[in-house]
Amino acid sequence: MDQLSSQSGQPAGPLVEVEGLGRVFDLSKRWLNRVLDGSGKVMLVAVDGVSLSVERGGTYALVGESGSGKSTIAKMVVGLLPPTSGRVRIAGADVWAERSVARQRELRRRIQMIFQDPYASLNPRWRVGSIIAEPIKAFGLASDAAAREARVGELLSLVGLDPRDAVKFPHEFSGGQRQRIAIARALASEPEFIVCDEPTSALDVSVQAQVLNLLRDLQQRLGLTYLFISHNLAVVRHMATRVGVLYLGCLVEEAPARELFADPKHPYTKMLLDAVPDIGMEGIERQSIAGEIPNPINPPPGCHFHPRCPYVMPQCRSVVPPLYTVGNAKVLCHLYGAGGAGGIKPPAS
Ligand code: SF4
Repeated sequence: MDQLSSQSGQPAGPLVEVEGLGRVFDLSKRWLNRVLDGSGKVMLVAVDGVSLSVERGGTYALVGESGSGKSTIAKMVVGLLPPTSGRVRIAGADVWAERSVARQRELRRRIQMIFQDPYASLNPRWRVGSIIAEPIKAFGLASDAAAREARVGELLSLVGLDPRDAVKFPHEFSGGQRQRIAIARALASEPEFIVCDEPTSALDVSVQAQVLNLLRDLQQRLGLTYLFISHNLAVVRHMATRVGVLYLGCLVEEAPARELFADPKHPYTKMLLDAVPDIGMEGIERQSIAGEIPNPINPPPGCHFHPRCPYVMPQCRSVVPPLYTVGNAKVLCHLYGAGGAGGIKPPAS
């Protein structure tokens, strides 16, 4: 039986469980072209066996450079892109194996997504009221048009806009206001889990903090659970309870947010953190992230990170590291196995 959390009355434990999730894209030319020019199949492993779980009411942040597989994972979790392997469970229901149409529909209601570009995600020809009312109508969450209109007004107030804004079009708002409209629409289906895919990266720096604070307030008020996708560690620090660091489709480190920022264990995490500007460290030179992310179609053998790693050891070039448990963290690195150095030490100069 589910244990009830004392604060929210919701069952405790993970709401979202991702197990061995993988996605391979076939980028091959057509069969006839391959025969004519003698080329082989080209497969891109975008996500490679990722497992994670998101606690109810928590924020799990996935970070990594562009091309690390963050957005591909987000799309598989919300049901927009089928995985090649593995599974995704929301409150015990398998997103990709659920056969009952009624339960699929219920899953779609419970999971929503907020996208990076608030303008592209809102239909420019629809008034804001119709945009927000659409999920209410689709899932039958209001008894009639008057109840729907009242609910739209409530949602606009909830995200800090005026209920009278319902009659306007998206182009009449600023970028930050448009993202608030996108959040109101996501909330319209009364979801419990929201995937936020770089929700502030298209906004001015001055507006980013306002939108992040709004997301945090809504989480507390409504008991929401977030999967937060970002390349920006400063944003992640503000939001996350747990962080997963992705490199070329693999989860290379996962830890409670506070621990990961205080004591990064994977050399790649350390490199990402060393590159973050920190207000409290003025005058200290920040190190940019060294090297380029390799071609994912032909990743380096062994540890994919070895061409960029300042701690590289001979086995890193040929042996794929296992996932080690180090305290509350999980780390994909030979430094934590037998024959490793037991962790990050200053690299030999
Ligand atoms: Fe660096 Fe080796 Fe660890 Fe990879 S396995 S991160 S190359 S030390």
